[in-house]
Amino acid sequence: MAEIIADLQLHSRFSRAVSPAMTIPNIALWAKRKGIGLVATGDWTHPQWFREIERDLEETGNGLLRLKGDNTGAPLFLLATEVSCIYSQGGRVRRVHTLIWVPSIDTARKISLEMTRRGCNLLSDGRPIVGLTSVQIAELVFTIEPKALIIPAHAWTPWFSVYGSLGGFDSIEEAFGPYAQYIYAIETGLSSNPVMNWRIPELDLRSIVSFSDAHSGAKLGREATVFEIPEGQLSYNAIYEALRVPEGKQSGKSTIAYTIEFYPEEGKYHYTGHRTCKVRQTPEETREKGATCPVCGKPLTVGVMHRVDDLAGRTEDAVKLAEVKPSDPSIKTPLFGSAVFPDRPPFMMMVPLMEIIAESIGSPVTSPKVQTPYSRLTDEVGSEFSVLLRAEIHDIARVAGEKIATGIDLVRKGKLTIDPGYDGVFGVVKIWGAGEEGIADKSREQLMLEI
Ligand SMILES: [Zn+2]
Ligand SMILES: [Zn+2]
Repeated sequence: MAEIIADLQLHSRFSRAVSPAMTIPNIALWAKRKGIGLVATGDWTHPQWFREIERDLEETGNGLLRLKGDNTGAPLFLLATEVSCIYSQGGRVRRVHTLIWVPSIDTARKISLEMTRRGCNLLSDGRPIVGLTSVQIAELVFTIEPKALIIPAHAWTPWFSVYGSLGGFDSIEEAFGPYAQYIYAIETGLSSNPVMNWRIPELDLRSIVSFSDAHSGAKLGREATVFEIPEGQLSYNAIYEALRVPEGKQSGKSTIAYTIEFYPEEGKYHYTGHRTCKVRQTPEETREKGATCPVCGKPLTVGVMHRVDDLAGRTEDAVKLAEVKPSDPSIKTPLFGSAVFPDRPPFMMMVPLMEIIAESIGSPVTSPKVQTPYSRLTDEVGSEFSVLLRAEIHDIARVAGEKIATGIDLVRKGKLTIDPGYDGVFGVVKIWGAGEEGIADKSREQLMLEI
C-alpha cells in the first residue's frame, strides 16, 4: 500500500482574493515542495481556467490528470471545483459552498454547459455564485455523471456552509433531500476537526475529509487527507471508493489513512464573537450571556464550536479520543482516533512549517527571514510534510538551527497554545512564552481523560 497526501480544495487566480501566481505549473511546484501527491485543479467551472487546465494538463486515463510532458507522476491532479449556491428555502436565505469532483474533462465540460444553460454565470468568478439549490446542483451533476463526488465544503463555517449558523441547514438531509444518500463525505474546514464531527450521528457513515482551500501556493496542504491506496493504483475510482466506504481499513482496498488538521482554535470561526468590537466568547459563555454583542448590540457571529454543540447528538467525552499507532512507523506525530468508533480514520494536528519558523524566530510569516530556512529545509531535508512528520530533529537542526528544530519538536508533541480565532479573525499560534498549560494541551488532556 502507498500513502498519498491529497489536497483537493484550492482556488485558481480566477477566484476572488487569490494570488495571481495560482497557475497550474505553480500549483504543481508547490504541491511537490509540500509533499502532496494528489492536488485539486480548482475552479474548472471557470471558462478561462478550464482552457488552462486543457492546455497544461493531460488525462492519465484513470480519472486523474498530470502535467503535459511530465513523467515523474507527481503530483497528479483531480478535477475539483467549488460553487457557492445562494437561494431561499423554508423562508430563509441559504448560502452553501459545495465541492464537485469529476473523473474527466468531458464531464466537467458537460456540467459547466448545463449550468450555463440554467442561467449560471460561470465567468463571474472561479468559485461562481449560482442561484441553484443544493438539491438542483446534485440533480444536475449526478444526471451527467453518477460517479461525481459532491462534498459540502468547510461544512461548519457560519456564512457559507451546509451546517453554517447563518445560512446553512440542521442536516445534510434537509439540504440535499433525496440526494443526501449520495453525499459520502464532508470537508471539515479549518475551524473544526474530526472529533467535533464524530459527535454528529448523521456523519457516522460519511467520510470526514480535510483540505486547505488555499488561495496561494504557500497555503497548500495546511490541511490534507492521506489516502492509503494499493501500490500503483491511484485513480479517481480509488478516491471514490475510499470516500464511499468510510469504515476504515479493509484489506487490499483504498481507504483514508488519516487526516492532517489545523488546530481548530487556529481557524477563523472557532469561537463566537464580533470582530469590530473585539468580543469573543466560548460556547459556555454564549449559553450564559446570549449571542448579542455586549458592546454594539448587534448579533455575534456564532462560531463553529457552538454550532457543533447545538447540532451534536453526543458529547465530546462520548467519542473517547484515543491515541492510535500510525501504520507508517516513521511518522513522529501522534494520531488520534476514537475508542468508541475504532473504524473511523484517525487524525493528527499540525501547524504549517512557515508558521512554526515564523514563531521560532519571531518574524512575520511573509518575511524573507522565514522564507530562507523554509526553502533550505524543503530543498535539503525533504518535502514540508517530510520535515513536519518524519525528519529527525538533528537533521532539521543541522539545516535550520536549534530553535526551529525545537519548535517543530514542540509542535509534534502538541506543546503550544493558541489564542482562538473568531468572527473572521484567525487564531494565533504560540509555541514559546505562552505559559505552561496551553489550550492545545488542555483540550487534549480533557479528551484523553476517560481512556
Ligand atoms: Zn468556500
Ligand atoms: Zn459588536
